[in-house]
Amino acid sequence: MKAFSQLIGVVALLGLSSGSSAADVSARARQVHDAALVLDTHLDTPANFRRPGWSIADDHQHEGDLSQVDLPRMKAGGLDGGFWVVYTAQGARDEAGKQAARDHGLERLTSIREMLAAHADEFELALTADDAERIAAAGKRIAFISMENAAPLASDPTLLTAYHRLGLRMLGITHVRNNDFGDSSTDPKGAEWNGLSPAGKRLVAEANRMGIVLDASHASDAVFDQLLELSTAPIVLSHTSADAIHDHPRNIDDERIRRLAAKGGVIHVNAFGAYLIPTPRIPARVQAMEALSKKYGPEGRMPADRVPAYLAERRAIEARYPVKRASLEDYMAHLLHILKVAGPEHVGIGADWDGGGGVVGLEDVSALPLITERLLQAGYGEQDIRNIWGGNLLRVLRRVQEAAVVSEAESS
Ligand SMILES: [Zn+2]
Repeated sequence: MKAFSQLIGVVALLGLSSGSSAADVSARARQVHDAALVLDTHLDTPANFRRPGWSIADDHQHEGDLSQVDLPRMKAGGLDGGFWVVYTAQGARDEAGKQAARDHGLERLTSIREMLAAHADEFELALTADDAERIAAAGKRIAFISMENAAPLASDPTLLTAYHRLGLRMLGITHVRNNDFGDSSTDPKGAEWNGLSPAGKRLVAEANRMGIVLDASHASDAVFDQLLELSTAPIVLSHTSADAIHDHPRNIDDERIRRLAAKGGVIHVNAFGAYLIPTPRIPARVQAMEALSKKYGPEGRMPADRVPAYLAERRAIEARYPVKRASLEDYMAHLLHILKVAGPEHVGIGADWDGGGGVVGLEDVSALPLITERLLQAGYGEQDIRNIWGGNLLRVLRRVQEAAVVSEAESS
C-alpha cells in the first residue's frame, strides 16, 4: 500500500494525469450522467482482488499500477457497478486441465464474494434488476456476477446450479480458444463444433431454465447464431465491437447486430484497442512482453514493490516497438455506428476494464462521463442515454428471469 502511494506521489510530481478527467465535461453531461444508473457488463477487476497490497477501497492511478476500477474512481466516474467477471483462461482440455479450470473458477468466485463481504457498506451482490435499482438507491455499488469462458464447468456442468445459487447471472461460452461447449471466434485452429457442442446446447437450456443471461462475446459467429436460435430469452454481447468499423473475427457484423436487436438483445460496446483499430503484430514486441510477463508473473498477483520496476521495463518495450493506440474517437466510432444499426434500446457499455480495455482519452472508469458528453453531442436524449448505461441491460435481465423456471427464491 505504502509503495503504491509513494508511486502515486511520483506520478503526481511528474505531472502525469490520467489524460481524461471527468471534470472536463459540461455541467449538463455530468447531470445526465449522474441521473442515470451506470452499469458496465464486463468488469475484469476481480483479477486484482488477490493482488498483494491492493484494495478496491483505495484510490489508484492507471499509470501507477495499470488498474482501472476502484471505489474512488467508480464514484468519480459515476459508475454504479455492473457484472464482475469470473474469468478463466482456456487451458488444456484433458482431465487435469478441466480440474484446474474448475478450481480457478471457484477461487475467482470466492474472491468476489470475499470482496463483497469485506466492503459490505459500499458494495452489494445483485441478483435481479430490482436489486440493482434498490442497491443504487441506497448509495451502494452494484455487483452482479458473470462468467467469461465456461471452462470451469467442463468437468461437471451441473456446477452451474451451484454458481447460480452463489449469484451467477450471466454466462459467456468461450474465451479466445475453443472449449468443450463451443467454438471461439479467434481459435487459430478454426471451428471444432461448427457452433455449440452437444454439451454447449445443454448448458444453454440450463442457463435459460435458471434465468442466467447468455453472453455471445468471444464466441464464433455460428455460436452466436445458435444462441440466438436456441435461447428462450434475449441474449447479450457483454463486450464486443463492430466489424463495419474494424473488421476483426472478435467483432460482429451489422446483420447479426440487427438480428440480436430484433430478438430483444443488447450489444455492449468494447473498448479493447486491438479490436477498435488495426494494430500490427510485431513479433519482437510480443516476445519481449511474454518474457517480461514470465519474469514478473501475472499483474493480478504482483506485489506492490515490484510494480514500478515492471512498469519501467514494460514502457521501455512499448517505446522500442511502438504500436498506435486506439483513442476515445475510435471508441465513439464503434459506439455511434452500433447505435445507428441496433437502435438505442439495444446498446450498452462493456469496456473490458481491467481486462485489456481502455483507450487514449478513456483510460479508466473515472472518465466515463466523457461518453455521456459525446452521446449528447451526437444528439441522443436523456432517456436514450439512461437506456444505454443500464436500462437496456436491466430489461434483458428481467425478461431472462421472467422466462426462467427456477425462481429467484431458490438462490442466495
Ligand atoms: Zn474478454
